[in-house]
Amino acid sequence: MLLTLDHLTVRLPGTARPVLDDVTLRVAAGEVVGLVGESGSGKSTTAKAALGLLPGTATASGTVRVDDADVLALTGEELRRHRARTVAMIHQDPRAALNPVRRIGDFLRERGADRDRAAQLLGAVGLSDPERRLRQRPHELSGGMLQRVVIAGALAARPRLLLADEATSALDVTTQAEILALLRTLRAEQGAGLLFITHDLHLAAAYCDRVYVMYAGRIVEERTAQAFFAAPAHPYTRGLLDCSPTLGDTSRPLLPIPGRPPSLGDAFPGCPFASRCPDAEPACETWRPEAAELPDGGVAACRRAPAAVPTATERNLS
Ligand code: SF4
Repeated sequence: MLLTLDHLTVRLPGTARPVLDDVTLRVAAGEVVGLVGESGSGKSTTAKAALGLLPGTATASGTVRVDDADVLALTGEELRRHRARTVAMIHQDPRAALNPVRRIGDFLRERGADRDRAAQLLGAVGLSDPERRLRQRPHELSGGMLQRVVIAGALAARPRLLLADEATSALDVTTQAEILALLRTLRAEQGAGLLFITHDLHLAAAYCDRVYVMYAGRIVEERTAQAFFAAPAHPYTRGLLDCSPTLGDTSRPLLPIPGRPPSLGDAFPGCPFASRCPDAEPACETWRPEAAELPDGGVAACRRAPAAVPTATERNLS
């Protein structure tokens, strides 16, 4: 397994609940794995944990492994090498990753690519006239072109794991489709794993092999992309799908999830989704969520999920 998070819990000082709570997640080499949920659910912190970029004030328990490396134990040169060579992150806003006064060629050279490789990478991500692009500065390129430059930078070190955090959310649909196709091709060619963070559920279902759903710092459902979309097991997943518009279906009413997403100031004695859940019962208020296996091999953390049994990990622990 390329990326393994096992029972990862991360706490920040001054908060009422963990920012990540008992998170278990896997990405295999060559796999595209989606991570969805509302803002503040813990998606970006999960990616930062894989990168070894948790805040200095955070306390963490559990494990984060990328290949054979114990990421939480890495320090100094080992941690720098991990961030520079093993894992690469692609953010939503490419301008934030680029120095406006430096040339594109400088950006790629700082990531270890010599001139020939930098030009080859720009060609590989679909930019015309790579030699000219190397001499240009960010303000001379469009948002879509800059995102390609950032992806070229992420690929410069041939990382084993790509973390795409809303990497295509700010792009127009044509450019988004091109970037997604490009990431898939490069993933296949380099055998890298891709953790694809998005709030677009339909995109996750169409693009990913498997999908994890996060709520209040916890994984509440893990399914194949097909099962996630066709038969969501957790009420929160169903709520997310019910409030997402479907292409070509204008007759279906959009049903917002009542209430608001929880903040780090909210603590929960039981299921964190209880105050917003249409299926909640009094027992949910004190039920501590546990991952349970679904009949199709997926996982959901809901005491009312269909025919749930404890996961293999839970069984081994008990
Ligand atoms: S445990 Fe209860 S409150 Fe939580 S998601 Fe399931 S039905 Fe809803």
